[in-house]
Amino acid sequence: MNIVLMGLPGAGKGTQAEKIVAKYGIPHISTGDMFRAAMKEETPLGLEAKSYIDKGELVPDEVTIGIVRERLSKSDCERGFLLDGFPRTVAQAEALEEILEEMGRKLEHVIHIDVRQEELMERLTGRRICSVCGTTYHLVFNPPKTPGICDKDGGELYQRADDNEETVAKRLEVNMKQMKPLLAFYDSKEVLRNVNGEQDMEKVFKDLRELLQGLAR
Ligand code: ADP
Ligand code: ADP
Repeated sequence: MNIVLMGLPGAGKGTQAEKIVAKYGIPHISTGDMFRAAMKEETPLGLEAKSYIDKGELVPDEVTIGIVRERLSKSDCERGFLLDGFPRTVAQAEALEEILEEMGRKLEHVIHIDVRQEELMERLTGRRICSVCGTTYHLVFNPPKTPGICDKDGGELYQRADDNEETVAKRLEVNMKQMKPLLAFYDSKEVLRNVNGEQDMEKVFKDLRELLQGLAR
């Protein structure tokens, strides 16, 4: 199962990706998570990525494509993968086609989680993440049982540095510009499916499962 999960920042990609990988046992490949891990370790990649991420800009295509190419070559991707947050530009989508072709594979599902822009600011500024296991919460839409503490492991919740209002506004602007041509790219290849991301999380997951199982078109 080779899947791409698309959507604007805050659409629910990470939330749904957690559920999909738990159900289907494929690796979750999030370029955002990979950049944040590199930033934490202060590797050269992390330092470069940070200079873009802090400003709400996209990391350059050649850097992003490079880390995805390397990740997809790992043996755990042999039975499939879920890409979350990649591709975000047409150049990345074209590079992904090439990478997969070299591997003798192709994309089976490109799913766009569709949420209107108006919803996204509140989702992103209210997002909180467990510092131990990475589970995503929301102050209002998906609060933990005890404020500030992860339900699963008692880890402390934190807010991403780029989830402040100013950086979110920039991220939305930048990502919206790229989204339209990217959707057109996949639409023309007849692999694109849309899911209404403005439903509760379990209903979104139900729609995703139906798409993945080929029950809905
Ligand atoms: P993305 O990975 O696309 O940026 P996330 O999965 O991190 O998005 O979700 C962004 C925020 O919105 C999180 O705080 C999450 O808890 C919340 N969220 C995700 N899906 C929904 C939903 N269907 N309804 C309401 N809030 C949601
Ligand atoms: P979100 O979907 O909530 O914006 P991510 O965690 O996917 O968050 O991405 C965080 C940041 O990492 C982005 O704002 C961008 O700077 C960088 N990034 C992630 N994926 C890509 C990508 N495919 N191309 C370029 N930059 C990316």
